[in-house]
Amino acid sequence: MLELVEGDITAQEVDVIVNAANSSLLGGGGVDGAIHRRGGPSILAECRRLRAGHYGRGLRVGQAVATTAGRLPARWVVHTVGPVWSATEDRSALLADCHRNSLRVAASLGAVSVAFPAVSTGIYRWPLESAADIALSTVAEELAGETSVKLVRFVLFGQQAYDIFRSRAV
Ligand code: ADP
Repeated sequence: MLELVEGDITAQEVDVIVNAANSSLLGGGGVDGAIHRRGGPSILAECRRLRAGHYGRGLRVGQAVATTAGRLPARWVVHTVGPVWSATEDRSALLADCHRNSLRVAASLGAVSVAFPAVSTGIYRWPLESAADIALSTVAEELAGETSVKLVRFVLFGQQAYDIFRSRAV
């Protein structure tokens, strides 16, 4: 099942919320800042441990990795790095990778419900119409395959983002 809601992803009572992180994993603005503020310092502490271990050079664009969710109602945060929008280069495959890999990491945890923000559409400037097309089609494809995930909820920040996602959903 695929749901669209307008709201704040940090309030979602789901197994996994996806964070539009940056490669450093060490926090940023937008949804990343909101997740760390509301989730408390344990998420950042885990991110630092990831950087000290397997992700010494940071998380590559399109990859995803999980931490626990601190004080958030969710059980885990899956951090993914979206591509920065480019008018001259087609980076759609990387935005699709973010969604596919986030769902695969969620499934590896046995998650049933996953909430996504509109990855790359804030500071990374990806146009909402195009981001919606890529996000919705990639998630639908994954849900049609072998996965523990039964519910994906897109949590759109503001009426405009919600309306655009709604208009692109078939
Ligand atoms: P990126 O760097 O991937 O563009 P941003 O965090 O800047 O990431 O923006 C991604 C999307 O998340 C934007 O559409 C932004 O409006 C939205 N956003 C910001 N805060 C929240 C929140 N608390 N819940 C859900 N979405 C949010």
